[in-house]
Amino acid sequence: MTVLPNSLHARDVAYHFHPYTNARRHERVGPMIIERGAGIHVYDDQGREYIEAMAGLWSVGVGFGEGRLVEAAARQMSRLPYYHTFTHKAHEPSILLAERLVRLSPEGLDHVFFTNSGSEANDTVVKLVWYYNNALGRSAKKTFIARQGGYHGITVAAASLTGLPTNQRGFDLPLPFVRHVTCPHAYRHARAGESEEAFADRLAAELEAVILEEGPETVAAFIGEPLMGAGGVLPPPRTYWEKVQAVCRRHDVLVVADEVITGFGRLGTLFACEHYGIRPDMMVVSKQITSSYQPLAAVLFSDAIYQGLADHSEAIGNFGHGFTGSGHPVATAVALENLAIIEERGLVANAARSGARLQQALAPFAEHPLVGEVRGVGLIAAVEIVADKASRAKFDPPGRVAFHLFERAQAHGLIVRAIQDTVAFCPPMIITQAEVDELVARFALALEETA
Ligand code: PLP
Repeated sequence: MTVLPNSLHARDVAYHFHPYTNARRHERVGPMIIERGAGIHVYDDQGREYIEAMAGLWSVGVGFGEGRLVEAAARQMSRLPYYHTFTHKAHEPSILLAERLVRLSPEGLDHVFFTNSGSEANDTVVKLVWYYNNALGRSAKKTFIARQGGYHGITVAAASLTGLPTNQRGFDLPLPFVRHVTCPHAYRHARAGESEEAFADRLAAELEAVILEEGPETVAAFIGEPLMGAGGVLPPPRTYWEKVQAVCRRHDVLVVADEVITGFGRLGTLFACEHYGIRPDMMVVSKQITSSYQPLAAVLFSDAIYQGLADHSEAIGNFGHGFTGSGHPVATAVALENLAIIEERGLVANAARSGARLQQALAPFAEHPLVGEVRGVGLIAAVEIVADKASRAKFDPPGRVAFHLFERAQAHGLIVRAIQDTVAFCPPMIITQAEVDELVARFALALEETA
């Protein structure tokens, strides 16, 4: 493609420093400019159509071009485009959404704090937990335990919880309030011959050992994605969550479920907590809450935590935390409409149905010589490729071949995500079974050209 000096491409390279992008490579290859979307498809500025098999960034649940969300935003913009929620101010959409989230969420989550992004929500989790423990006079109880391979965002505290080298190297992170334990991914971390249950036992024992080593009086919370997303779509081994929760309860350690990707139907249940039997003290949601038509995230927490926060702010002054956009009226109005669409169109049940089809259609790739593992639950899945199937050896350097596969997929009109040696799929929840078949057919062509 010829790049004209004053084209959007040239101006993007000149002025726009992109997230998660190698800037030098970007200077050479330039941007892929997406102009519009409809249903599960997006279209670039050359008029090419793609199946968006990642729903953007694991997020556009109701698909692209949903007119009802546009109308909900426009209605709210004309009525009250902005107001804040500091110092007792409120507006209808934020109140209604907080109530709705409490009604929809797992039992025991009774209060909601709004942020703009998942990262801010996880930073908020850290601060709420610290504030709460200060309220209870347990000022030493501040350490968080997270997992290697976990992703909780990129702000300073959230990136410290994240257990991925990319988000820490070069940034002087993680901060020392976090300990990371073994990634709960059997394919890579279980021992030869170890059952999933035995692996889960070992992970729970490791968690308990870390808590005891730190001293339970210093360990505040355990945070995890019910099923890890950005680390490579990693479902935990069977019985993991029940065992980990038992350890946390024994040592008075709060359980925080990060449902930023999994919330609102991705696994075929409204929340992944239902799928795995998790009873969290705190839960973080974002992305599919508005199908990313507006930036919005929320932290839900128990009444016990609320009582501590409320008592403490009564004692020491206003709760000194909040964002200009906390509970933004347009974002919360869009979320209410989005959740109504998910319910009216039965998209959680559709995610279960189309998800079963996706898992079934991807499963045979496990036999392919390049493929080490095929995994997933509902409408989130991954294919991990390996340099050597028998030894499970990774490619050197990691990601090179997966990136080629990603590029071949794009050439066949399929947008996936390459995470090191793993290719991830997380299509919009409106996807039909026929569209799943088309997605998988395009992936098969790309894999053929990579082999
Ligand atoms: N938590 C999880 C599980 C995520 O997957 C993400 C983003 O992908 C985040 C937190 C951070 O969200 P954001 O990118 O909105 O800051």
